[in-house]
Amino acid sequence: MIKPSLECMQKMIRTILSRGRMEPFFLKPAGKNQNTLRLEDIKSVETKQIISCPFGAVHGKDLPLGRSVIFPLQRAEVVIEAALLINQFPLFSDFPAPPEEGKKIGRFRDFGCGDPSTRWPAMTLGKETGDVSGKGVSGVDWNDWKWQFRNRIRSVRQLASIQQRPLASLAPCGPVLRTYPVAITPYYMSLLDPADENDPLRRQCFPDPRELTFSLGGVPDPLAEERDMPVPGLIHRYPDRCLAIVTGICAVYCRHCNRKRMWRADKPGGTRERLRAMVDHVARTPALREVIVSGGDPLLISEPLLDWFLGALRAIPHVEVLRIGSRAPVTLPMRITPELCAMLKRHRPLWFNTQFNHRREITEESTRACEMLLAAGIPVGNQSVLLKGVNDDYDSMRELLYGLERISVRPYYLFQCDPVQGTDHFRAEIRTGMEIMERLWRNISGLCLPRYVLDCPGGRGKIPLQPFSLLPENKHCFDKTAQMD
Ligand code: SF4
Repeated sequence: MIKPSLECMQKMIRTILSRGRMEPFFLKPAGKNQNTLRLEDIKSVETKQIISCPFGAVHGKDLPLGRSVIFPLQRAEVVIEAALLINQFPLFSDFPAPPEEGKKIGRFRDFGCGDPSTRWPAMTLGKETGDVSGKGVSGVDWNDWKWQFRNRIRSVRQLASIQQRPLASLAPCGPVLRTYPVAITPYYMSLLDPADENDPLRRQCFPDPRELTFSLGGVPDPLAEERDMPVPGLIHRYPDRCLAIVTGICAVYCRHCNRKRMWRADKPGGTRERLRAMVDHVARTPALREVIVSGGDPLLISEPLLDWFLGALRAIPHVEVLRIGSRAPVTLPMRITPELCAMLKRHRPLWFNTQFNHRREITEESTRACEMLLAAGIPVGNQSVLLKGVNDDYDSMRELLYGLERISVRPYYLFQCDPVQGTDHFRAEIRTGMEIMERLWRNISGLCLPRYVLDCPGGRGKIPLQPFSLLPENKHCFDKTAQMD
């Protein structure tokens, strides 16, 4: 595992803090070990608040990178953001250097500091005019996925600032973030209305206190994925295919995620040793003909590592097909670069499934990302989740499916939201889904129709939820009176 030098970590943390215009903390070397930080050396910190930090440190002791402990710090979210960056750093062997001292920091990144009235108008202006510089960042930065990743919204303070609300008003979100962290790319944030609690995109990424209401019997791992792992991270349930969880990190943490148990960052990252164990299992299991590379977001491990992993799988004679599951085209479309596409192209036949849940996620950027994959000979499919308040009505779903057809992305699955702990408020009734599917069946092209499925709790596999119509005599299968678009 590549570890950043202490000097590099200090520089990154100073950059983060200076961007937020916080009082800077200075981290001193802890003894001779340059790969540890000593929190007692952090200055300008008052010990008022206990914040659980899954990757943090024992206060006053050396901090081995990537361990689980507790941070007794005020303004911990900033430190946590820094720690997260450190935690993720080893995944990026080619992680770019932080911006130089004194470089102009755009208005967009001034969450939590500058004049609130300049923030959203600036972004909105940029969105409407297509002038990305209107966001207060250069177009080069905005279109750089690493910039987007580094500048993700990670704290309650930033969320409060974006919504132009007092920090205290978001106090209920604090416990939510301690259980389920937040991460929102500037790009995805620019698509939503942060002030509208019913905004379908906001609902997918803003923490909600209801995530801690476990009243309907949700469990962290309803599909029993952990049970079906012959080696850590590899789910082998069906005879002919398996799924490799190569990282727990995502660009945006979708609040409805059925793997939100993994966000706690105490899961191992995508190290070569861990991936090697998965390759070995696939190699000694001749029945496996397809491997799904998923996460987290597999496109967030380093590109050379992903290249190696796909190549190692491809070299196994009985592996016929590879598949990638990634929401990057939706939440971080800049991640789909020509270099990435060229690399993926070498590992064909390779299929790519993403997750658009609302028509407003189909943007110029996401369209371009999908077109680049398609141009590389990689078919792109979509796996939506039926989400209450997002797409659980006929019109929203129809517009989403029409939009996907327009950009040549094949609707593949519509998932009934799994009974995952912390997602009760997203779960629409199956009856609602069936009614939507029946109307869709009657009214839209078969090319647009996904399969509505329920992943059975307990790891018993998927069952289709088909609209089952007994038609009265003389009744058309399609709706002749439906409004034409
Ligand atoms: S991108 Fe996928 S794995 Fe990551 S949080 Fe969203 S739904 Fe979960």
